[in-house]
Amino acid sequence: MFDTDIAVVGAGVAGLAAATSLRQAGLTCVVLEAGTEVGGRARTSLLAGAPFDHGASWLHQGESNPLTPLARAAGLDAVDFSATRVERIHIPDVNSGPKGGPTNGHWATTAEQHDAQRAETRLSRLLSDRATRAPDISLAQAAAPLQADPWTHSLLQWEGAIIAAADAERLSLKDWHANLLLGHNLCLREGIGSFVARHLAPPAGEVRLGHAVTRIDRTGPGVVLSGAWGSLRARAVIVTVSTGVLASGAIRFDPPLPIATQEAIAHLPMGLLSKVGLAAAPERAGKERLGVPNSCSIWRRRRPGEPALVMMAWPLGRPYIAGHFGGQTAWDHTNPADAEALVRAELVDLFGHQATTLLNGPAVVTDWGTNPRFLGAYAYAPPGFHGARAALGTPIDDGRVMLAGEACHATLAGTVGGAWLSGQGAARQMTELIRQPA
Ligand SMILES: Cc1cc2nc3c(=O)[nH]c(=O)nc-3n(C[C@H](O)[C@H](O)[C@H](O)COP(=O)(O)OP(=O)(O)OC[C@H]3O[C@@H](n4cnc5c(N)ncnc54)[C@H](O)[C@@H]3O)c2cc1C
Repeated sequence: MFDTDIAVVGAGVAGLAAATSLRQAGLTCVVLEAGTEVGGRARTSLLAGAPFDHGASWLHQGESNPLTPLARAAGLDAVDFSATRVERIHIPDVNSGPKGGPTNGHWATTAEQHDAQRAETRLSRLLSDRATRAPDISLAQAAAPLQADPWTHSLLQWEGAIIAAADAERLSLKDWHANLLLGHNLCLREGIGSFVARHLAPPAGEVRLGHAVTRIDRTGPGVVLSGAWGSLRARAVIVTVSTGVLASGAIRFDPPLPIATQEAIAHLPMGLLSKVGLAAAPERAGKERLGVPNSCSIWRRRRPGEPALVMMAWPLGRPYIAGHFGGQTAWDHTNPADAEALVRAELVDLFGHQATTLLNGPAVVTDWGTNPRFLGAYAYAPPGFHGARAALGTPIDDGRVMLAGEACHATLAGTVGGAWLSGQGAARQMTELIRQPA
């Protein structure tokens, strides 16, 4: 009667984790993936011959990340990026204009770098203290007592737009606190997307690429999934698409999802983090480095109204600089030409026209905000909605439908580790439900 025990929608990290767990539990499963490859938001391509991660590039909380032992078991070289990373901070002159010409200023001295570190400690103590109190407020509101500190705005840009993909004004303080990514970040030399595709993909027959699901019908026994490719009947389904895809209505649920689930989707909108990778011209790669070392994180002390934009130069010695920009800055630059222009202008502002001459190799611009398979980078909780992640992962009806993915994880949201654990957890719960006597 059923084509398979469980259908899994999406072959991102959560979908692959679910498929692995279901297989281990002795259940049959079919993974339906709209795209032409597995991995979802874990995707590596080559830029000037070196791995470039469009989405995930670090295994956060490396020591306890569930993917670290899998990467090590696969014999991969996991580099402690936190120990390798160096930092350069640019401090603009007080009267220097934010736009329309080079910003005058200087690179932070050692004393100024220490000053920035102390400001970071002060801010994180304040935020952590406030996070334990009711009611939930935004990250920006919680930081208000330190508003006059010249570092606060840039540090909030890091925590909000760059790390959480949403500006600090929009972020729930409690959700931010629950998802603090402490400990070391690990980096895989071959790229996280490559690792996922090569070592975590299910056996060939289990995954069907180019199978966009447009309807999930549970009006009869089990569930019927359908799309332009045809239909498939399963006893139950785990849906791992982003909350952006769920909110877009690209998948019609019949009957509609319960109100509590619909509210959870609405309360976990997608943030955006974009990357532009600019490679050095082949004849110059490895020789000129704009005076910055490998794995150098470059950022500015910013004022309100300035873009949330940071650079990662020559990560692990790769021949490119990657601009990362998030939150409203990223939503305002979803056009690839605008995005590239933003990053190039910042580099010229920081290093002068030698940046243009050097970085005229191939370029790559990510498309997470406009790609209909994602519609954002990862989900964030606005103030007051930190409980939405648990609500999103609650089994629907009699457990015939479960949503899983990064947005459902309470403490590793927005990460591959969280997606993996969420997919595994949904599969375990579904296995138990399905094995209960009727
Ligand atoms: C720019 C960026 C940087 C990031 N950096 C990091 C990082 O450094 N470290 C980290 O841990 N995490 C990072 N992340 C987050 C991490 O990549 C995600 O949290 C994780 O990959 C999400 O996995 P998932 O399985 O939940 O969702 P997805 O990867 O989105 O998987 C869902 C799958 O569903 C498919 N799909 C969509 N619609 C349909 C449909 N209708 N039918 C069938 N299939 C469909 C999609 O194609 C996709 O393959 C980053 C993400 C981005 C975008």
